[in-house]
Amino acid sequence: MHKESHMMSYGYTPEWSEGSVKPPIFQTSTFVFKTAEEGKRFFEVAYGKSELNAKEEIGLIYSRLNNPNMQILEERLAILEGSESSAAFESGMSAISTTMLTYLKPGDVLIYGNPVYGGTHHFITHFLKDLGVKVLPFSSATKNEEILIKLKSKEFSGPVKMIYFESPANPTNSLFDLEELNNLKSIISSEPKNDDVMLVMDNTYLGPIWQKPLDFGVDVVCYSATKFLNGHSDVIAGCVMGKEEAITPIKTLRTFLGSMIAPYTAWLLTRSLETLHLRMCKQGENAEKVVEFLLKQKTVKSVSFPGVASMGKIQNDIFKRQCKGAGAMISFEVYGGEKEAFKVLNKLKLIKLAVSLGSNESLAQHPHSMTHADVPDDIKEEIGINKGLIRLSVGIENAYDIIDDLKQALKDI
Ligand SMILES: *Cc1c(COP(=O)(O)O)cnc(C)c1O
Repeated sequence: MHKESHMMSYGYTPEWSEGSVKPPIFQTSTFVFKTAEEGKRFFEVAYGKSELNAKEEIGLIYSRLNNPNMQILEERLAILEGSESSAAFESGMSAISTTMLTYLKPGDVLIYGNPVYGGTHHFITHFLKDLGVKVLPFSSATKNEEILIKLKSKEFSGPVKMIYFESPANPTNSLFDLEELNNLKSIISSEPKNDDVMLVMDNTYLGPIWQKPLDFGVDVVCYSATKFLNGHSDVIAGCVMGKEEAITPIKTLRTFLGSMIAPYTAWLLTRSLETLHLRMCKQGENAEKVVEFLLKQKTVKSVSFPGVASMGKIQNDIFKRQCKGAGAMISFEVYGGEKEAFKVLNKLKLIKLAVSLGSNESLAQHPHSMTHADVPDDIKEEIGINKGLIRLSVGIENAYDIIDDLKQALKDI
C-alpha cells in the first residue's frame, strides 16, 4: 500500500480496544504486569541487561518508556520517512537537543550548517559550547576544503562526531548538497580519531513528502512535528528517524531526560498524519501560485523559493537531485527595509502575523527581528537575512485569497 493509506490504521487493530475505529487515548502513567516474572523480564530488557528473544515482545511498563499512542505514532512516522525506527518527543527542540546530547561529549567537534532554526542555533552556540563541545559553522556556499583546513587547527582538534544542518535552511531556502556532505563525512571518517561521524539533518521544511534524506546517506533525520506533520497550529511536538542502531541510544537518553511525547500529543499528531498528504500537496500547489504572483511585483526585490531562477544554477541542480517538490515556504524581500516589511506585515488580513510554519492557515513573520533575532548581524548579512525579508508559510486557503491579501498589503510601499 501507499504511505498515505497506511496513515489511517497502521499499527492499531480495533479488536484491541472494544472495536474502536480509532485508537483511544491511553491516558495512563503505568501498566499492570500479568505476573511478577513478566515485570522482571520487561525491566531486564528495558535496562539493556538482556536482549529480546526472537519471539518475545516487550510489554508496556510506564509511559516515560513506552505508551500505545507513542508507539502507534512512531510506527507511522517510520513509514512516512521510510526508516527502520523513529522516536517521538514533546517538541522539535527536545528531539534535536536529545539527539545532540546523545552523540556529543565535551571535547567533541560539531560541524553545523548556517542558517539553522533560531532555537537550534542558541542551543549549539550557547549550551553545547559552554559544555565544551567545539562548534564549527559552515554555510551552503562553503567548500569542503575550507572546512577540512579549519579542522586541522588546534581549536577544532578532537574527534568530529556530527555534521548537523537544515535543507532547505530556514529562512533563506538555501539547499545543502548531500553528495558533498557525504564526501566530507567519508574524508573525516577516514581519520582514525573520527570513527563514527554522523550526518544529521533537520527535514522540517520538505519532509516527509518532498524529501527523503535517508536515501542520500543521512544517518538521522529530525523534525519539528509542530510544523507540517501536525499542521494545525495546536500542538508542539518533535521526532527523529533513522536506523534502529542510531535511534535506540536517542530513545534511551529520552527515557532519562523525560522528553518523550505525551499520550494526548501523540494522539493528536496521529490524527494529523491522516491528512498530511492532502494538506502538503494543496499547500505546495498554493505556494507555486503565490510565487508566480510575487515574482511579478515591482515592490518585491527578490523571491527565495527552491527552483526559481534567481536561486542560481548550483542551487537548482541540487534541488532537482534531492527534492520531489519545492514546498510551501517562501521568503521574499521587499524594497526598503524593516519599515516597509513591517508595513506589509501589519496590513495582512487573511495571512496571520505569527511565527511557526507548515500549518493549514497561512502565516507570515519577519526573520531579521523575530525568529532569527539572536543570530549575529554579520552572519545575518552573509546568509541573506535582510531587514526587508518576509517569511511566508502558505496554507490550504484558496490561493487567490492569499494572493489578494498580499496584493493589498504590498500596494502602498
Ligand atoms: C520550529 C522548528 C524547530 C523547533 O521545533 P519546536 O517544535 O518549536 O520545538 C526546529 N527546526 C525547525 C526547522 C523549525 O522550524
